[in-house]
Amino acid sequence: MEIFHISAECYPVAKVGGLADVVGALPKYQNNAGHRVRVVMPCYDTKFRKENEFECVHWGHVKLGNFNFPFNILKEQTDKLEFELYLVEIPELFDRKEVYGYEDDIERFLSFQIAALDWIIGRNEIPDVINCHDHHTGLIPFMMLYCDKYQKLQNTPSMITIHNGLYQGQFGFDKLYYLPEFDLAHVKVLEWDNCINSLAVAIKCAWAVTTVSPNYLNEINYSANGLESLFNLVRYKSKGILNGIDVEVWDPATDAMLEKNYSLKNFEKGKQENKEKLCNLFNLDPSKPLFSFIGRLLEEKGGDLLPHASALALSENFQELNILILGSGNAVIETQLNSLLSDYKGNYNTFIGYNEELAHLIYAGSDFLLMPSRVEPCGLNQMYSLRYGTIPIVRRTGGLKDTVIDFGDDGNGICHDQASVGDICYSIQRAVDLYDDKKSLNKIREIGMKTDHSWGRVCQEYIDIYNLIISKK
Ligand code: ADP
Repeated sequence: MEIFHISAECYPVAKVGGLADVVGALPKYQNNAGHRVRVVMPCYDTKFRKENEFECVHWGHVKLGNFNFPFNILKEQTDKLEFELYLVEIPELFDRKEVYGYEDDIERFLSFQIAALDWIIGRNEIPDVINCHDHHTGLIPFMMLYCDKYQKLQNTPSMITIHNGLYQGQFGFDKLYYLPEFDLAHVKVLEWDNCINSLAVAIKCAWAVTTVSPNYLNEINYSANGLESLFNLVRYKSKGILNGIDVEVWDPATDAMLEKNYSLKNFEKGKQENKEKLCNLFNLDPSKPLFSFIGRLLEEKGGDLLPHASALALSENFQELNILILGSGNAVIETQLNSLLSDYKGNYNTFIGYNEELAHLIYAGSDFLLMPSRVEPCGLNQMYSLRYGTIPIVRRTGGLKDTVIDFGDDGNGICHDQASVGDICYSIQRAVDLYDDKKSLNKIREIGMKTDHSWGRVCQEYIDIYNLIISKK
């Protein structure tokens, strides 16, 4: 089967969060299972773009209302990612360092979607299925169905995979004229809550809708940032598929970013060496349990709870534990976290920013990983930490509920229900007690390390849905 994945992110080309990890791994496993898989994404000004060879396989112009943007389709030459990678180069809009966060993001991602479809219809072959990811690609299923120039794709199944339903890519009808020509009888399809809502459009038009965990699919029926009733209406074509992880990239036995590689056989010693390295780097005490957080410092991740919870846990257990935070996001949260540095010197530290290498070292060298999320469509951090023998401490929400079971129920982690400082601190206290009981601690670490969260196990579920929608053609 020929599968196209269209996405704003893909690891290692450009990564902001879990979307990149998924689009960098699932296609590889699908390719290795015998399918022809292509990933199409914008061409940002990234290290990957500079350090690799590309060939221009197509060029054209995107017409966006009165604007006209030249574009090139660049194919990565080596296929070293184990799938074919195509970058949509639109220099005026994407030759920038960041993936998101610009005033013209609507123009950028709409141009990207149009250029991708222009190229796809110009090829000799029509793909068997087009898998779109999140709202940045949400207008593609609409354009395939209704835009005159994409008529060739009307009968090609499209699927939208929702990695995060909080972000929906809304914009006003004043920009309707950006879209390629279509029969205005269908204009209502674009509307949700008086604006064009890219994610809602995809949910309406795609032949199948998937979320990145089964529990998240249940949750969005009553909490989806305004799209609840729509999700209820499309239940018949929806499925929650738990994300996998790339067990080649995330393997403590071979991970080149670690101080010391280790496996199930020697994890106690291996983790301790990584912990010592981390503690050296951040002036922490390696004899005490190390609690870490990695992620975007936003309310959805419970980031706003971290300053207070850290201060309380450290003052109640002063000198009994270390806390290390890696992340960036809300400037107020960042400042609050940094304001604790002087009070808890030697037991607390932060790295405000994004650092892939440090993240790997933290998964390996920490004892516990904090995930106090309010919303977590799947969450990959807990799966990485399990694989690295680090015990996740999670709020039972979204995919965290699907993947982490409390050790009191013979599980692999520590769970609480409320997004509150009290619940986080209670879990930290349980973890400190557990840390003193090395036999139980190691048993739980082993359970985590043995859990199979690989894409190899999950990838067939995607193929089954593709087959289902192809059979409806
Ligand atoms: P998100 O909602 O951000 O996509 P996920 O748990 O699905 O959350 O994925 C987060 C991914 O981003 C993981 O690979 C995690 O290690 C990585 N990550 C998040 N923040 C940082 C950071 N500041 N530095 C390095 N890696 C990070």
